[in-house]
Amino acid sequence: TEQRDILVVGGGAAGIAVAASIKARQSAVGITIVEPASNHFYQPGWTLVGGGVFSPEKTRRDMASIIPPGVEWIQSAVTAFAPEDNRVTLSDGRTLQYQQLVVAPGLVLNWSAIEGLEDTLGKNGVTSNYRYDLAPYTWALVKGLKGGRAVFTQPPMPIKCAGAPQKAMYLSADYWLSESLLSDISVGFYNAGAVLFGVSEYVPALMEYVRRYNIDLNFQHNLVAVDGPRQIATFVVTNAEGESHREQVPFEMLHVCPPQSAPAFVRHSALADKAGWVDVNPATLQHQRYGNVWALGDVINAPNAKTAAAARAQAPIVATNLLAAIGYHCEPRHYNGYGSCPLTVERGKIVLAEFGYGGKLLPSFPPWLLDGTRPTRLAWWLKERILPPVYWQAMLKGREWLTQSEPATREESTH
Ligand code: FAD
Repeated sequence: TEQRDILVVGGGAAGIAVAASIKARQSAVGITIVEPASNHFYQPGWTLVGGGVFSPEKTRRDMASIIPPGVEWIQSAVTAFAPEDNRVTLSDGRTLQYQQLVVAPGLVLNWSAIEGLEDTLGKNGVTSNYRYDLAPYTWALVKGLKGGRAVFTQPPMPIKCAGAPQKAMYLSADYWLSESLLSDISVGFYNAGAVLFGVSEYVPALMEYVRRYNIDLNFQHNLVAVDGPRQIATFVVTNAEGESHREQVPFEMLHVCPPQSAPAFVRHSALADKAGWVDVNPATLQHQRYGNVWALGDVINAPNAKTAAAARAQAPIVATNLLAAIGYHCEPRHYNGYGSCPLTVERGKIVLAEFGYGGKLLPSFPPWLLDGTRPTRLAWWLKERILPPVYWQAMLKGREWLTQSEPATREESTH
């Protein structure tokens, strides 16, 4: 067994940001990131790839190029946790012992949960912005479609970036409207949930676009099977009485958002709650039972929106609280649940949802400058031009920009 000081599991948005944030505060501490992938992706950019605005390459970097200076990278996957012994096992058979553990491996997309989907992704008009290699196919389909039915699906919650399924739909419909094709293309939204968006303040602005694009809204419709060659999607529809039946919907284009869960090695570990997510204190992001374990990003069970924006707010909070716990002089901080979902309602305009725990609105800007409940050009400009450099140059470099937190009160910060 090898010894490490601070061990970070995952080199995604959350893992890189927290490692950089710790280094920015205390450059001498030893940090190791375990991450199997050779590429790092800016996933928020995939909506714009699917909308023909970004090239896919703009959203990819070599992992080696974004590991913070002075941080060790072990290119392997964690397969098991032993928090009682402060130990993890890697896929290459090695075991590592740590002083402090930070868990940030994101979530998994369960494509295989939908019968027939994996065989037809990337052909027969079936696509998804949830994969780097498929987002360009979304745009190819949008440009090629001249008539018929376009279907956009959303699985049961929780999912990362809950607005992304409808973002893809609005950008597609906007293109068809601009090409005067909307009279020949019918657009349908099929959501396993019961509402268009979880925070009601943003729904009126979205409904204006639903009407503009003449979108057929279907709730309690859960996609269970796709027949690619015959272009038929099958949904399980549940009514108010809880009864369900199957419904078949033919399509010319199908954009799927797959169901999502915590990774199996997390779900089956002592770190998980009943639903499989890492069980953290929602304010401190410290594990509920293991004092030297922290978690952030999509893998945690806190009821915030699973977004890179949330990870941006969480990283400095975990960094500060972890350093305070091991004796460095820093004021512990609390996470307010901040997350953000820039809803691309048309090319050039965004409804910028920003909210925290309990659906409390947490705008970054005063309403006279940017009212997030209305579509604005400024929010589009932010998404297209400002947020990518904020991600690569600030968040992944340990600099705080557009982050929110609160100082912890004395009693709450002790553990
Ligand atoms: P990820 O960034 O997914 O990284 C997880 C990392 O852990 C990966 O590198 C993975 O290889 C690694 N890993 C996995 N298993 C292991 C293991 N066993 N051992 C070690 N490492 C492992 N967010 C926004 O803020 N705004 C948006 O507009 C937005 N739009 C989105 C649109 C789409 C289409 C998608 C897919 C996502 C969008 N998001 C958006 C969400 C955002 O991308 C995620 O919330 C964010 O990437 C979460 O960061 P993370 O580090 O938790 O997970």
